[in-house]
Amino acid sequence: MKTEDYALILETAGIRPTSTRLLIYEAIAGQTDTFSLSTLEKELDSIDKSVIFRTLVLFHEHHLIHSVDDGSGSHKYCICHNHGHCNDDEAHCHFYCEVCQNTYCLSQDLIPHIDLPEGFIARKVNYIVKGVCAKCASKHQK
Ligand SMILES: [Zn+2]
Ligand SMILES: [Zn+2]
Ligand SMILES: [Zn+2]
Repeated sequence: MKTEDYALILETAGIRPTSTRLLIYEAIAGQTDTFSLSTLEKELDSIDKSVIFRTLVLFHEHHLIHSVDDGSGSHKYCICHNHGHCNDDEAHCHFYCEVCQNTYCLSQDLIPHIDLPEGFIARKVNYIVKGVCAKCASKHQK
């Protein structure tokens, strides 16, 4: 994707595409799995940390990124592949590796439908599988 495309995504979401925001969105688009504030801070060390933080909050408010609660206590996010227009196909499960503490997007595994008792309203569903990722498991075997 080109920078102009990213600018269009931000504009459509109602965010003014400043060059800093574009840099941050580009870094986010390059992530294959979930990321945290510190992931971006490491990649974008030329940008002030508080700016990155505020931009993440902004992107989250405009649904460009989803927050993921993996139970580790650190805030993680993954990109919204529909640029803020989420649909059910996007509600995927996550895998938290207890060894490397990475949280992987299981994009092919959708969150199963849950029949709630009458009167209950779901706001947010987190589906986290915990264990050891393939990379860590293969290290362990050696
Ligand atoms: Zn989405
Ligand atoms: Zn791992
Ligand atoms: Zn994800």
